[in-house]
Amino acid sequence: MEKKWQYPHRRWNPLRQSWVLVSPHRTQRPWQGEVGQKSTPSAVPYDEQCYLCPGNQRAGGASNPAYEGIFSFVNDYAALLPEPPAATEAPLSPLLQGEVARGLCKVLCYHPDHSLTLARMTREEIRPVVDAWTREYLELGGIDWIEYVQIFENRGAMMGASNPHPHGQIWSTGFVPDEPAAETVAQREHLASTGHCLLCDYVAAEQAAAERIVFQNEHFMAVVPWWAVWPFEVMLVSRRHLGAMPELNDAERDGLADALNRLATRFDNLFETSFPYTMGFHQSPTDGSEHPEWHFHAHFYPPLLRSATVRKFMVGFEMLGMPQRDITPEDAAQRLRDCSETHFWPRD
Ligand SMILES: [Zn+2]
Ligand SMILES: [Zn+2]
Ligand SMILES: [Zn+2]
Repeated sequence: MEKKWQYPHRRWNPLRQSWVLVSPHRTQRPWQGEVGQKSTPSAVPYDEQCYLCPGNQRAGGASNPAYEGIFSFVNDYAALLPEPPAATEAPLSPLLQGEVARGLCKVLCYHPDHSLTLARMTREEIRPVVDAWTREYLELGGIDWIEYVQIFENRGAMMGASNPHPHGQIWSTGFVPDEPAAETVAQREHLASTGHCLLCDYVAAEQAAAERIVFQNEHFMAVVPWWAVWPFEVMLVSRRHLGAMPELNDAERDGLADALNRLATRFDNLFETSFPYTMGFHQSPTDGSEHPEWHFHAHFYPPLLRSATVRKFMVGFEMLGMPQRDITPEDAAQRLRDCSETHFWPRD
């Protein structure tokens, strides 16, 4: 089959209302850049130096319980505080605005075993993580001043993760952060102008095109978005219209655990490494308004480009102009479709 879009072009991201430049002809150019360190999976189930392992003391002084399942706690070095001091500085100019930012930052350990990841956990082990995320969304989102609950995970030193222990973070804020705020505007406009949900329409369009879907189960679609910026960026989108995790039924929660496990496994198998990424869920703000426009999804933003050690940098034109990619989203989806769903590094 002849490849399409093999010339410089730009693609519209309707969810973020921005463009990405695609330059497929550049994939032939020689690489003389950085060759990083190949990451090897962590092999020890318990690390006495790890501040997230059961029973260990954290740097802040607190001790973890000898937890056997999920464990969450308020971040010892939180970027946001629930009761920050009131602002006393008056702005000297309308161009020098600022305001107090309130938030609550938590850490959620997925499993007591230090050596595991979403890729190497079983679907049955991931399901309680989905339930815990749902509980945290409800609890934190239920606090009257919290307007958004951002659940995310940084995986791998390349993404700045300081600890390989399987864990994620939950930053809940007294404001809607920029990314979900932009997606709220886009989804609201699409609903108002078409009468349809933007991502319901997008899922249908991707199913019709059948070029960028990595896999689907009964409840979720994994797709390299038309507008992907990162080489192997993937979106997990619920196939039914719903706004947030508490609306997932029992079978859909199993479906999410299944999709997370299968996607993370394909990522690891792509370059036979513990694949680094930032992933996170986007869901309805908890700002007290109705959000019929919101459609639940997750973004995976992995930095790797062509091997376990060669990463993509966002520099130059991308910082000053707009994001740019070489490999097309269609080729990236094909590469991920070609990967096995059996992990290259099996558990004993
Ligand atoms: Zn640990
Ligand atoms: Zn929808
Ligand atoms: Zn999003």
